[in-house]
Amino acid sequence: MILKVLPVGILSVNCSLLVDEESGQALVVDPGADAHKIIRELEHYQLVGIVATHGHIDHVGQVRTLKERFNAPFYLHPMDRFLINDPIWQGFERQIEANLPCPEPDIELKDKMEIKLGNTTLCIIHTPGHTPGLCCLYEEKSKILIAGDLLFRGGVGRWDLPGGDLNALRNSLRRIFSELEDDVLVICGHYEETTIGQERKFNPYLRQLL
Ligand SMILES: [Zn+2]
Ligand SMILES: [Zn+2]
Repeated sequence: MILKVLPVGILSVNCSLLVDEESGQALVVDPGADAHKIIRELEHYQLVGIVATHGHIDHVGQVRTLKERFNAPFYLHPMDRFLINDPIWQGFERQIEANLPCPEPDIELKDKMEIKLGNTTLCIIHTPGHTPGLCCLYEEKSKILIAGDLLFRGGVGRWDLPGGDLNALRNSLRRIFSELEDDVLVICGHYEETTIGQERKFNPYLRQLL
């Protein structure tokens, strides 16, 4: 599998492109902004799905543009439906140039569900806390976790926005750190990537939460 991470928009959301080399099938995760940049990267592949790790508009802001262009199904956990057209803050949708309204999901994400891209399998892990429907994507062969805003390098997702829940966040982090090994690469929702091992050792929030 090829992984390409594109930081998009003023909030530097990490939009991930996952490509199965053999079949040329691609999945895009968190197309929050800069649709032209994402479309250019997708030129030589067949886009088979658009996934949002969660419903915050900085992560779903360009789902509509991609869906109209490629006609691929949109995947989202049903518990985050209430967020996809909620600007959270006054004028936020204009600031980040979100193309709203975001379409309703075509396929609902569920814990332990699998998404196939040719010979590549992505496993969905439902990890609520930052939002009720936040899901990670895990690819076992390359040991890559797309974590959305669950976890950051040296930080964790905030739990004070609508639908946020500290207890749920704690349980989700416990689950991720008990199920995944230290050498798993973590693509966070924003900013730098990290590994499970790096965060297990150095993340000050985890020390308090786990
Ligand atoms: Zn978020
Ligand atoms: Zn975010």
